[in-house]
Amino acid sequence: MTDCVFCKIVAGEIPSSRVAETDRLFAFRDIQPHAPTHVLLIPKEHVADSAADLGPDDAGWLAELMGLAATIAKDEGLEAGWRIVTNVGPAAGQTVFHVHFHLMGGWTDR
Ligand code: 5GP
Ligand code: ZN
Repeated sequence: MTDCVFCKIVAGEIPSSRVAETDRLFAFRDIQPHAPTHVLLIPKEHVADSAADLGPDDAGWLAELMGLAATIAKDEGLEAGWRIVTNVGPAAGQTVFHVHFHLMGGWTDR
């Protein structure tokens, strides 16, 4: 997907603030954070445009992604609480069509 912003981030063609990386996954800071800590987790491969296209074949990397999210949450000091969100479709606010998960936390006012 040459025209995909997140594919370009994985390829290093667009700079990003990397938080973590595995063979299959990439995590980086959202450029417009909606929380004190806002990290995006993506599969490196453009396996789906959104979570609507996921199925049993995706179980492996999805499980790994959830584990990586928990590790990042710990590393970033989010023990008090964090959230994972994935937007599907423009009506839900999806703007980048490379499946991704928002990890958000770090609030001190709630
Ligand atoms: P969505 O709205 O599709 O669920 O989430 C896309 C997210 O990607 C948004 O929160 C947006 O701020 C972030 N984003 C879009 N372009 C870039 C970029 O070039 N770099 C980074 N780090 N984040 C981006
Ligand atoms: Zn992509």
